[in-house]
Amino acid sequence: MSDLEKETKSPSNFIRNIIDEDLKNHKNQGRVHTRFPPEPNGYLHIGHAKSICLNFGLARDYKGLCNLRFDDTNPVKEEIEYINSIKQDIEWLGFDWEDREYYASDYFGQMYEWAVQLIKKGKAYVCDLNAEQIRESRGTLIKPGTESPYRNRRVEENLDLFERMKKGEFKDGEKVLRAKIDMNSPNLNMRDPVMYRILHADHHRTGDAWCIYPMYDWAHGLEDSIEKITHSICTLEFEDHRPLYDWFLDELEIFHPQQIEFARLNLNYTVMSKRKLLELVKNKYVNGWDDPRLLTISGLRRRGYTPTAIQDFAEKIGVAKANSTVDMAFLEYCLREDLNKKAQRAMVVLNPLKVVIDNYPDNQVEELEATNNPEDETMGSRKIPFSKEIYIEQDDFMENPPKKYHRLSPGKEIRLLHAYYIKCVDVVKDDSGKVMEVHCTYDPETRGGWSKDGRKVKGTSHWVSVKHCLEAEVRLYDNLFTVPNPDNGEEGKDYKDYLNPKSLEVLTNCKMESNLANAKIGDSFQFQRQGYFTVDSDSKTDYIVFNRAVSLKDTWSKIKADLG
Ligand code: ATP
Ligand code: MG
Repeated sequence: MSDLEKETKSPSNFIRNIIDEDLKNHKNQGRVHTRFPPEPNGYLHIGHAKSICLNFGLARDYKGLCNLRFDDTNPVKEEIEYINSIKQDIEWLGFDWEDREYYASDYFGQMYEWAVQLIKKGKAYVCDLNAEQIRESRGTLIKPGTESPYRNRRVEENLDLFERMKKGEFKDGEKVLRAKIDMNSPNLNMRDPVMYRILHADHHRTGDAWCIYPMYDWAHGLEDSIEKITHSICTLEFEDHRPLYDWFLDELEIFHPQQIEFARLNLNYTVMSKRKLLELVKNKYVNGWDDPRLLTISGLRRRGYTPTAIQDFAEKIGVAKANSTVDMAFLEYCLREDLNKKAQRAMVVLNPLKVVIDNYPDNQVEELEATNNPEDETMGSRKIPFSKEIYIEQDDFMENPPKKYHRLSPGKEIRLLHAYYIKCVDVVKDDSGKVMEVHCTYDPETRGGWSKDGRKVKGTSHWVSVKHCLEAEVRLYDNLFTVPNPDNGEEGKDYKDYLNPKSLEVLTNCKMESNLANAKIGDSFQFQRQGYFTVDSDSKTDYIVFNRAVSLKDTWSKIKADLG
């Protein structure tokens, strides 16, 4: 392997070890074929991104294939909007399923035939117990189940009833088809699980063709088998379902993919289940599926996350067999790493305070040079106009500062980034005592922000020229929840009780350098000393709205440093 290959290939993990072993043994004629199987009942989130990167990443690295398969076996909750958003998100993340876009619903006919085959083998039966009765007779971990009184129906009767279920002769819930396995199995999933239920509901693809729908455990392995998937990767909660997955495939004697489970991604300060995301969206706790506070892929994209940052994150957290929670600071760290290299620098004042430079000629304007990205010389530089009146950040001035305050205060000298040293000589206040304007003098010998006599200043401020700057709106985000694990709060509390009332702060009086006037939706910048900001889709041609993707403060590096 060349050095370059070594660097670009993902680090090894237990799934790669299984595949390496399979390839060594020439299993599946050396094929590697994975799939990403979303149920189209919501938008994708960062957890799905991990699964996408894993499945498509394996196909890429082993020169195999990865299918996109919509697991659309539940007609009630699924919508076209979700299908379209899922495709858009996967594409945006940088993965390509080529022509392999499949739908579980396309296999309903084949699944039905296979069910008939199991009935004929005496391995499946129609049961008249209702959902409640089935649950009760299932037993518990310490108590065996009890057999259904319908368990020993004759094959002919089962075939007849199952066909009539399909024809629509029975009402919802009146009958189900169950696998005939073992009501005493220590694994509850093996206690005659339901394969089909009756549901008189229209399906977004098959319309009213079916009124019986397959259950996940019955359908999933068949879908994998039909598509000749070699490694069917799913999350840990399906580990106990694997014996059932295997049982169906073995009984049918059809192609048998290997199910492999890995730990799902959990992040603190957020919720990830689609049910909860749907609730937050539908009840307007957030502004849609792409609200930048949500860790949906569309929310992350709008917030300013890049495909590179998300892929890098997925790679770095790795795949494991044990559940754990990843720190949000780590996701932010991955974004900073990427944007630091790519984002053009800009000066934007979020909370403006006017500074008048008394000794600067009244109508003079200078074009000062500013580097676009110190990490990348090829990004060049730009000109920024400087004049007698500028804005600095309110936070960058204090009239009566504490000892270690190194920014501007009466008598103190600081640097204006890329410009000059200025020194505060006076303060103008309104009747209430609020500082309205600060007066300074500048030192013409410090052009560019460096003094020739070696005089040092401790503080540096960003600024914009009053006459030349443009207005902008900036949205600052904080975690959507106030506690690390909103799913697991105090007794009697719901995750929504922990919503952070300060998760969104809108600043409408921001002043940006005019170079940003042509920024396009999705463009990202580093606002110097503030963080990384991305142009939001709410922007108008003459009014730009920015989302703060992430602040500059890198708590993850600090955590790393503290750990040694
Ligand atoms: P949710 O629990 O959020 O409702 P789901 O598992 O029901 O998600 P699916 O549409 O079935 O959602 O998921 C598609 C694929 O994404 C599955 O293979 C699933 O294992 C994977 N996946 C879902 N959530 C995560 C996660 N948090 N981490 C890793 N993979 C995930
Ligand atoms: Mg699922």
